Amino acid sequence: MGEAVRLAHAMGGAGSLDRLAQVVEIVDAAAGRVRMRAGVAAIDFERLITASSHSTYGPVSAPGRAPTSPAGPAGAVVPCPACGKKASVTARFCPSCGQRLGERP
Ligand SMILES: [Zn+2]
Repeated sequence: MGEAVRLAHAMGGAGSLDRLAQVVEIVDAAAGRVRMRAGVAAIDFERLITASSHSTYGPVSAPGRAPTSPAGPAGAVVPCPACGKKASVTARFCPSCGQRLGERP
């Protein structure tokens, strides 16, 4: 039993350890010393181990990766080369100073 916990700890799977902690009392995760909680069948423990080893826990899934939604062409703005004020990329002339912004496809 302790071997599985030590393995999960070595892999750095915090999620696996959390799931293990539901059925066992982790005395020393690094050393793989655990105590079975009372009232938990061994079959449940084995199933947890199998499930956690097949799922992708750990640093594989990078947390905090915010999806950057690029602004569409309609909402994008560019600074006017003449006055520096923002003009729509679709505008051919600056709305502030009338500077020609150039042809765009
Ligand atoms: Zn301008």
